Amino acid sequence: MSLEGRVALITGASQGIGRACALVLAEAGADVALGARNVEKLAAVAGEVEALGRKALPVPLDVASGDSVKDAIGKVLEAWQHIDILVNNAGITRDNLLLRMKPADWEEVLRTNLEGAYHCIRLVLPGMVRRRAGRIINISSVVGQTGNPGQSNYVASKAGLIGLTKAVAAEVASRSITVNAVAPGFVDTAMTQALPAEVRQKLLSFVPLGRMGTDREIALAVKFLASDDAAYITGHVLNVNGGMFMA
Ligand code: NAP
Repeated sequence: MSLEGRVALITGASQGIGRACALVLAEAGADVALGARNVEKLAAVAGEVEALGRKALPVPLDVASGDSVKDAIGKVLEAWQHIDILVNNAGITRDNLLLRMKPADWEEVLRTNLEGAYHCIRLVLPGMVRRRAGRIINISSVVGQTGNPGQSNYVASKAGLIGLTKAVAAEVASRSITVNAVAPGFVDTAMTQALPAEVRQKLLSFVPLGRMGTDREIALAVKFLASDDAAYITGHVLNVNGGMFMA
């Protein structure tokens, strides 16, 4: 599963699953552009990628802003001319019951998790179409398939990402570009560490494998979909959830 000579752009690469994707893709031989808002953390991840012998390019990026995405992707293309692999990983939660959810929290989550992927795909696709090659991997979530009370904004964004994945996969398949989603279950990162202990314990009881996933386990699935070994897989949702939801 070598990614030697490939260029990957990963959004939300400053920590958690995005950072793990950067390290795993770099281990497989890819050079990695790292996008997120926290530039200090991005610089630290860039150092980790370089320690693996690959090139890293940290780019300040707010996926919720079309202008910021344009600027960041412009910087990557200026430095490396092409992007072979796009991992749309940036994501946030603003949980509440729908009746109590403020419009701002609804909008921020949709703008970041779903529109952010739209902005990135729109700007990366033309180069992939020209090169007749490319891999797009969208990080959805198990709750995008099952629903989850208190997360209507997040669930809508993650279900939306699955629809986006399938529609774009059909649009660009004739150019040998694949578009897939990875749907993580309950993964040990800052996002889930922020949950109250009793909620974490309850979530764990729904996982047949009896433990949380690691960010690296999600990244290994991303690496597979990014590789030549997955050339005949497109429009797919790959569950990496310890059995939490069996499609
Ligand atoms: P995390 O540790 O909170 O990391 C989220 C990442 O997204 C950070 O790098 C953050 O960087 C970035 N980000 C947030 N808003 C951004 C924006 N507007 N522009 C650019 N980057 C932004 O969470 P995680 O668990 O690694 O989550 C990564 C992805 O996996 C998310 O899409 C999440 O929904 C999904 N997921 C996670 C789990 C889980 O159990 N952890 C389960 C299913 C799906 P900055 O703050 O530096 O911008």
